[in-house]
Amino acid sequence: MKNKNIKTAVVLLSGGLDSATVLYLAKAQGYSCRALVFDYGQKHRQEIFRAVKVAGSAGVPHTVLKISLPWKGSALLDDKIKVPERISSGIPVTYVPARNIIFLSFALSFAEVLKAQAIFIGAHAQDYSGYPDCRPEFFKAFAGMAAAGTAAGKKIAIKVPLLNKDKSEIISLGYKLGVPFGLTWSCYRNGKKPCGKCDSCYYRAKGFHQAGIADPLFKSRVLRSESR
Ligand SMILES: [Zn+2]
Repeated sequence: MKNKNIKTAVVLLSGGLDSATVLYLAKAQGYSCRALVFDYGQKHRQEIFRAVKVAGSAGVPHTVLKISLPWKGSALLDDKIKVPERISSGIPVTYVPARNIIFLSFALSFAEVLKAQAIFIGAHAQDYSGYPDCRPEFFKAFAGMAAAGTAAGKKIAIKVPLLNKDKSEIISLGYKLGVPFGLTWSCYRNGKKPCGKCDSCYYRAKGFHQAGIADPLFKSRVLRSESR
């Protein structure tokens, strides 16, 4: 018989270290978690494989949901648009139109069926400087929409626990929670090893450096964050 005191959560898991940290945090908060991984046609296929590994390491069941955005519209989806080495300002070419609205909508449907109490997503402060679907006002609006448009109403909370944290704070938190950083993948490019040059690799390296923790993916690498 299901224990009524057990809280259930759907956790969006991307294979990156932010969502891995959120998964471990939700577990530490006593949630019985279900990981939702999206195969949305991203060029960096590694992250799907890594997300499955992270879910396995956390002992959490996962679902890989295959969806398609045939109109593309992002450097992460379109072979014709190169992932840049560094992104200057404004909305980056790696923005995937309305991605978090799409992902959270699927998570909401899943959460209703599971009678879950929460959905967790790993968006954070750095994300919303460029990505409009990572802004605090977006998550507030989405929660309002979920309450108005589902049978569950306000019963499903939209949790964004990293929202006010920067990368180094997330890494420190993940370290304490025992997140297997060596299984995660942050690079926007595909390959056997992270490129070390894209925006996502840059912020990962900088975050580990500031946190004073060695990135298990780059055991022998000399960090270059000081020179940028
Ligand atoms: Zn990279």
